Amino acid sequence: MTQSFIPVFRPALPKGPEIAPYIAEIDTRRHYTNRGPLVERLEARLAALFGLREHAVRTASSGTSAIEVAILAHAGAAKAERPLALIPSFTFAATALAAERCGYQPFFLDIDGNSWTLDHERVARHPVLARTGVILPVAPFGVLPDMRALEALQDATGVPVVVDAAAAFEAVVSAQAAISDRVPLTLSFHATKSFSSGEGGAVLWNDPRGQARVVQSANFGFFHSREARVPGTNAKLSEYHAAVGLAMLDGLAQRRADWLRVASLWRAHSSGRDLGGRLHLSPRLSSAYVLLETESPRQMERTEAHLYTGLVETRRWYEGGLHMQPHFTTRGRDPMPMTESLSERLLGLPMAHDLDEKHIIFILDRIAEAASTSLRDTA
Ligand SMILES: *Cc1c(COP(=O)(O)O)cnc(C)c1O
Repeated sequence: MTQSFIPVFRPALPKGPEIAPYIAEIDTRRHYTNRGPLVERLEARLAALFGLREHAVRTASSGTSAIEVAILAHAGAAKAERPLALIPSFTFAATALAAERCGYQPFFLDIDGNSWTLDHERVARHPVLARTGVILPVAPFGVLPDMRALEALQDATGVPVVVDAAAAFEAVVSAQAAISDRVPLTLSFHATKSFSSGEGGAVLWNDPRGQARVVQSANFGFFHSREARVPGTNAKLSEYHAAVGLAMLDGLAQRRADWLRVASLWRAHSSGRDLGGRLHLSPRLSSAYVLLETESPRQMERTEAHLYTGLVETRRWYEGGLHMQPHFTTRGRDPMPMTESLSERLLGLPMAHDLDEKHIIFILDRIAEAASTSLRDTA
């Protein structure tokens, strides 16, 4: 029998029968997209979950398009005098690609080693600020930046701030104050995120007029007519995706209990063991991630290789930072000591809401073996 890899993430979205009642509604109504009733219901239920009025949530067709329409609604498209978007290099490619779709040139910044997010004070004094049209802080692995500090940064600099919080669904549920009336924040509902509609996303922003602009930008720039009035795109979530999202919400209490259980297994089995580094997991991170931060790059390589030969899939989720990726290497940037150091030491381990306890123990044993070999090497 051939053994298969333990996957780094194994999504589980609602099953057909759970989605079926919503699909039956679509069949009856024949309303398939363009902000149909299921989209509106999904937005209202999410807003209630976040403790806010319905306008605070506007869905999009993906996390990437949510960033794009939030930029268009809040900062507008890039202007000649302010062509730059300040973006942490420590993120997924989508953050910078969305900025480019709005006409901005990414300028990459390093992150703070403790918060893993932008150093706000450094941003406020940055020499390129006068040519910057938008600041795009990120919630890496779902770790929310300090939203009050970002509101203050926006006030102090006059430069609009939009937060890519793609993986921060759970953080926003537990810290409802994170949703600002001044700084929009975006989520992804991609299948690899902890709340998913297959593909999808949302802009969370407690500003009815701002959200009206989000809806307009997401629908070709139309407003009460079929004329494009502002820069726009097609970023609308379909009724079918909303159906999956609604079914996911129906099962959310159970899913959260499952995530908690698996995270506590990771914690219990790793406690007191020498893993050659330390684990990061929920509640600090989204439940979709378990990361091992090794003490050295060499230790990460050793652990990665030892897990691979044990048929355990791992992932360097943000690769070496965006400034290292071929499409972005020519962009302006700061020196990247923290991004480079973390990228070489942060290894994504397998996670799933139903990850087997035996697999967790096996993975931790392999990591501990890699750590003890390294002790022998250096002795
Ligand atoms: C997942 C993710 C995205 C992209 O979201 P999609 O829904 O896949 O478009 C953007 N930024 C970050 C930080 C992400 O983790």
